[in-house]
Amino acid sequence: MRIFDPHIHMTSRTTDDYRRMSAAGVQAVVEPAFWLGQPRTNVGSFTDYFDALLGWEPYRASLYGIRHHCTLALNPKEANDPRCRGVLDILPRYLEKDGVVAVGEIGYDSMTREEDEAFAAQLALAMAHGLPALVHTPHRDKAGGTRRTLAVVAESGIDPGRVLVDHLNEVTVELVVDAGCWVGFSVYPDTKMTPERTVALLRRYGTERMLVNSAADWGHSDPLLTLATGQAMLAAGFSEADIDQVLWHNPVAFFAQSGRLALDGIAEPGTDFAGNSVRRGGI
Ligand SMILES: [Zn+2]
Repeated sequence: MRIFDPHIHMTSRTTDDYRRMSAAGVQAVVEPAFWLGQPRTNVGSFTDYFDALLGWEPYRASLYGIRHHCTLALNPKEANDPRCRGVLDILPRYLEKDGVVAVGEIGYDSMTREEDEAFAAQLALAMAHGLPALVHTPHRDKAGGTRRTLAVVAESGIDPGRVLVDHLNEVTVELVVDAGCWVGFSVYPDTKMTPERTVALLRRYGTERMLVNSAADWGHSDPLLTLATGQAMLAAGFSEADIDQVLWHNPVAFFAQSGRLALDGIAEPGTDFAGNSVRRGGI
């Protein structure tokens, strides 16, 4: 089973995790920029973090044979802090960098006016830079938050096929499927989704445009729950091809829309998963 984890915060994980992931079949990851627990107080904290996601973390991943790309953004939580708003001004420079395969995580945390502004501004940046967008949905009032998220996406004019809406569950999946966006399930040990619940939704809605991630961070989470979901799919009667679609081809197809996915030596040579070219070349 080959695995592409499309949402994992490796900054908060150890080399033991990289070793276990590599042994489990994880060959590629996307690390979205997010908040770090401790609030940041200035824009410089973000540039150092972005530089780490573009330099140090891909290097660390490469030691374990894992391709690392990132998505960059001002996250919804810190969009509320006026000290961090200047991130929106330095983002255009960062969105031009090779390792960046989407704008994200953007979206809502508490659904404030400040979050509205940062979300809309960053969807516009995604369009201006030819990048897809990775959208986080709030953990409170999930259905209301997802509806409002999809309204902002529609209003922005971005192609829904270039938007991945993440952290979905039984209550929100249908809204996102109907909107034509890509669907992300974050599989967690005891909150968000379990492998079994994810498999039930894949049965109901099919494997098209469906992505599974561990969203592992410094909270209670497990980078191998992508593998566990693949195994649960197999046990539920899905074919190896179905599993390969969800755990590999779908994330490749989504992020290949950036034109910057570098998977040489991993993806089949010449394969064009989504009608978009997969850029060849080193990390
Ligand atoms: Zn995240």
